Amino acid sequence: MGAILIVAELQNGTIREASYELASFAHKIAGDRPVKSIVLGQDVAGAAETFASKGGGDVCLVDGETTANYSSDAYKQAILKAVEATDAEIVLLSNTPSGWDVAPRLAVAMDAAFVSDCFDVSDEGGKPVFLRRVFNGKLDARVVPNAERIVATMQPGATAPYEGSTSGSVTALDIDFGSLGARFVEIRTAESKGVDLTKADVIVSGGRGVGDPEKFPEVIQPLADALGGAMGASRPVVDAGWLPHEYQVGSSGQVVTPKLYIACGISGAIQHLVGMKGSNFIIAINKDGDAPIFEVADLGVVADLFEVVPALTDAVKTAKG
Ligand SMILES: Cc1cc2nc3c(=O)[nH]c(=O)nc-3n(C[C@H](O)[C@H](O)[C@H](O)COP(=O)(O)OP(=O)(O)OC[C@H]3O[C@@H](n4cnc5c(N)ncnc54)[C@H](O)[C@@H]3O)c2cc1C
Repeated sequence: MGAILIVAELQNGTIREASYELASFAHKIAGDRPVKSIVLGQDVAGAAETFASKGGGDVCLVDGETTANYSSDAYKQAILKAVEATDAEIVLLSNTPSGWDVAPRLAVAMDAAFVSDCFDVSDEGGKPVFLRRVFNGKLDARVVPNAERIVATMQPGATAPYEGSTSGSVTALDIDFGSLGARFVEIRTAESKGVDLTKADVIVSGGRGVGDPEKFPEVIQPLADALGGAMGASRPVVDAGWLPHEYQVGSSGQVVTPKLYIACGISGAIQHLVGMKGSNFIIAINKDGDAPIFEVADLGVVADLFEVVPALTDAVKTAKG
């Protein structure tokens, strides 16, 4: 049986937690398949050794200036070389900006089936079966790829990181990248407006259910102010330009652990939960009693946020005198 190849990602020189989660998924479905990995970067031999012993198995190392930063073209070439070297049939990547950029390119080049944004995978009779949310998280789709080779991206935070040990060796791949279609220029960090959610004891977050950018200063911010906390948001709010990115809580925003987190009009998609489920006490206000946010809430209010939040703000102000 062909191998499962994990495409590891690094952050500040160390393997990201999401890659250890890929190792969990890979070992879960491995059966007789060997689990192997690729680690790309610059000066990352140490990280590759670590990953080889903590879930990655045999690691293909691509270490050099060309792979120091993500590049669609270079990463695609390197991963394809690792697919060839490991005889991989299943390639697992994290559903991150680089993962979702390179994964479909790989699938085309490998003539493989492509499954994106999965939150689970299981083995059924030697075949991997992927689960992904559809219809805005209301339904789960079971995807059984009908192909010899599969490329899949898995949601960060959807499973626990691999905790076992593996005995793998690290082999450097020598790649002639030739002339690349794109090259890395620089990373520009967005200017901060001074909101640091990671330091707030209380966060009141608004989601798409708030419905209107003007309702954030009118309804959400006053409750945050009354509680002496900060305002946060889900990603659609930021994507719509209603609030800057520094307000975003979740896998592609801030990971926060306040004493109190109040989610208003937020459904509870896994990418949001990853960013706030470590909060000490969670209150969810949502008019849909089936919203997944209630699964992590300590206190749930099934109601219209425009009735509950202003009433709560008044009650807090009154209680504080
Ligand atoms: C790679 C990737 C990364 C992502 N990263 C993030 C991330 O970092 N953070 C993040 O938040 N999302 C992220 N997402 C998006 C995520 O999948 C969800 O789409 C998003 O979290 C949904 O936001 P929401 O809950 O505000 O909106 P929706 O899912 O549309 O939910 C709105 C909710 O509001 C409720 N509602 C509507 N009106 C009212 C009302 N008047 N009163 C009370 N409740 C009401 C509805 O019942 C519904 O549950 C990411 C997605 C991907 C693919």
